[in-house]
Amino acid sequence: MTEQILHLPVSGLDVRLRSLGGMEDLLLSEATTLDTQLAITLLSGLVQAVDGSEIELEHLTITDLDTLLLLTRKILFSDWIRADATCPAHHCGSRIEVAFQIENYLTHEQPRKVRGVEPADEIGWFRFQNLPVSFRLPTGADQIAIAYHPQPEQSLIERCVCPADLPTKQRKRVERAMAAMAPSLVQLLQGQCAECGAVVEILFDPQQFVLRELQNQARFVYEDIHLLAMYYQWSEAEILVLPRVRRMYYAERIRQTQKSA
Ligand SMILES: [Zn+2]
Repeated sequence: MTEQILHLPVSGLDVRLRSLGGMEDLLLSEATTLDTQLAITLLSGLVQAVDGSEIELEHLTITDLDTLLLLTRKILFSDWIRADATCPAHHCGSRIEVAFQIENYLTHEQPRKVRGVEPADEIGWFRFQNLPVSFRLPTGADQIAIAYHPQPEQSLIERCVCPADLPTKQRKRVERAMAAMAPSLVQLLQGQCAECGAVVEILFDPQQFVLRELQNQARFVYEDIHLLAMYYQWSEAEILVLPRVRRMYYAERIRQTQKSA
């Protein structure tokens, strides 16, 4: 894979993505939880701002981080996502699949400007022109901070909205503005069981989906290192710097040779 340039919709940043290698596969294989911290650690080794500036990934919005994960996945494998679930209908239990294209999904969830909202004095904050309320868009750092909080939604509001204790109507207005400016890419998808016709909703979370898929494929890294070290006498460090696709290619060649021997 050659280097690819990706555009992030909320921050407007253009980033360069380099290919996934053995270090990322080890990180994924050894991760015990698939969470925002893992996504950020993984992406920090893979992306670089096109203009050469330092990107603090934890300060990107969750929308931008999820977009990065989906586009990385698109470049690595395919634009098509197939999310599946088991039919919950009594005595059915068939597999239900919902397929969609990343590009369409992202086009559908583009950030929008909100009338009456303007940047506030503090960088990263916004305010309403006719309401004494300011807010900022939730970031990866916020998601990490609230992940194990007993009241995550309330905690997020306290971090991102000022003042945090708003009447319901105003709070809803702030939430609508935030959702328009940084749309959530976690969505409920509708699927229908081909066996019994039951309609089901499948929760699609880009972070969980992409990290799980990458982790499943990363597990081959140990086997690949073992084969390449044995066959070519390469060191672990030499094998780990290879892009994943090249390492897998060599390992596959060795397996074919062993099979035909
Ligand atoms: Zn069914």
